[in-house]
Parts: sequence; C-alpha cells; structure tokens
Amino acid sequence: MTPLLQVSGISKYYDTRLGCRDVSFDLYPGEVLGIVGESGSGKSTLLNCLAGHQEPDTGKVVFDTRADGPKDTVTMSEPERRMLSRTDWAFVHQNPRDGLRMGVSAGGNVGERLMAVGARHYGNIRAAAIDWLDKVEISQDRTDDRPSQFSGGMQQRLQIARNLVTGPRLIFMDEPTGGLDVSVQARLLDLLRGLVRELGLSAIVVTHDLAVVRLLADRLMVMKDGQVIEKGLTDQVLDDPQHAYTQLLVSSVLQV
Ligand code: ADP
Ligand code: MG
Repeated sequence: MTPLLQVSGISKYYDTRLGCRDVSFDLYPGEVLGIVGESGSGKSTLLNCLAGHQEPDTGKVVFDTRADGPKDTVTMSEPERRMLSRTDWAFVHQNPRDGLRMGVSAGGNVGERLMAVGARHYGNIRAAAIDWLDKVEISQDRTDDRPSQFSGGMQQRLQIARNLVTGPRLIFMDEPTGGLDVSVQARLLDLLRGLVRELGLSAIVVTHDLAVVRLLADRLMVMKDGQVIEKGLTDQVLDDPQHAYTQLLVSSVLQV
C-alpha cells in the first residue's frame, strides 16, 4: 500500500530559533497519528509545514494526491497546493474563528466548501450542509444562524463539518479541543472519535492532551525541543514509555 503521506527530514527555523528538526514518518490511509509534547516543542510548526501553511527549510512532504499520485507538496506550485487544501486536505484550527467565516451562516460555512469544489445545485448544497450539521449535532433550525451566535463547542463542531463535507483524504488538527471547557472537550472528543471510526478518516492530530490521543490516535510521536524523541503505537507509548521525558509526560509530572 502506498503511504498517504511520506515525510522526510522536515526542519524549520525561525531565524536562529529552532521550530522543528529532522522529522520523518509515514502515514498510511485510515491512520490517525497523534503528535504530543509540551508547549513550544514544535508541534504546530511541524503541522503547518506538513499542511503547506509554512515552508520548511529542508525536507519533503510527499502526499498521495487523488489527481496525480504521490507528489512533494513542498516544491509544488502555490496554486496546486491551494487546490489540494480545498480538495484532499482539511485543517481544523484550535480557534474556530481561524477556520470559520464568522459573517456567514452555519449552513453557508459548510455549503461554500462544496461550492469551492464545484457543486452548483443550491438544493443539493443546502441538503448536504444540513446533513453535515446533523452529523456534528447542530440542529437544523440553527442552519441560518451565524457562528457568532454559537457556543465555543458548537463553533468547533461547525468547523469540523465545514472541513469534512468535501470528503478530504487527510485532516490536520491543531489542538482541536484546546480552547474548550472540560465537559465540552469530552463531548467533542466523543464526536470526533465517532467520525474517525465511521468514516475511516486519516488524520494528524496535534495536542498537549494525552486523553485526546489516547482516544483518537493509532500511533504517536512525542516531540521535545523541536525533535521527535519517541514514536510508536499509542497504547505502547503511553503504557510503556521508553524515553525519560515521555515517562514524565505520561505521569503528568510535566504541566503541559
Ligand atoms: P507548539 O505548537 O508545540 O507549542 P510551536 O511550533 O508553536 O510549538 O513552537 C516551536 C518553537 O518555535 C518555539 O520555541 C516557538 O517559540 C518558536 N516559534 C513558533 N512560531 C514562531 C514564529 N512565528 N516566530 C518565531 N519563533 C516561533
Ligand atoms: Mg501549538
């Protein structure tokens, strides 16, 4: 089987400050990879390099595109990358405001993604939008409300619907439960787990919260100071951490 994503030697510096260094891994279709580590360990930098939001200084990100098979997204043209981010990729931001259009209705937020990939029939677009709102537990009578009228948890669920409606092959998530109250986090996590299982999603989830990866991720990478210090199956890493830092992380001695 061809990996969905083949990452090799990704490094990124901000001037002299290290963002992440020499990160390599493969992700296969249907896999969820969790990236954990304390604040400042380079998780977001790595994710942004993978998703084409930032340009790495070195390395390759070879993605198995629907249209043309495996291609290095670092060296591809900007329009080509933009097209990928509308079709094959999805990106769920920690702050829903970064991933939603706040001035557009909930239904519009979902529907415009379908239009961006060529859907034209208004009735079909609206029906698909309502269907996706239902999947993320937003009732139909909120379809015409704006995200600003929603709670934080609802906004995040809307962002997820907006991102999944086009059937992306790979979903990037940066701290998807990050800014939410604990009870709201649990519900969102439950929903995400249901979607991942039901749809067989491939995803890369960055989080400082081990409960998130415990529930969602098949495999884990632990980052410290910009580098991957441990990786393996999620249960293996969490139940039998090899690296002293991972042991601290798991025993919650580190306040991340
Ligand atoms: P995490 O997501 O794990 O909290 P980041 O990827 O945000 O980590 O940060 C990794 C390192 O890169 C940190 O030392 C951080 O200060 C630095 N960094 C991140 N973004 C920038 C930036 N835009 N300019 C300069 N340094 C940055
Ligand atoms: Mg971050």
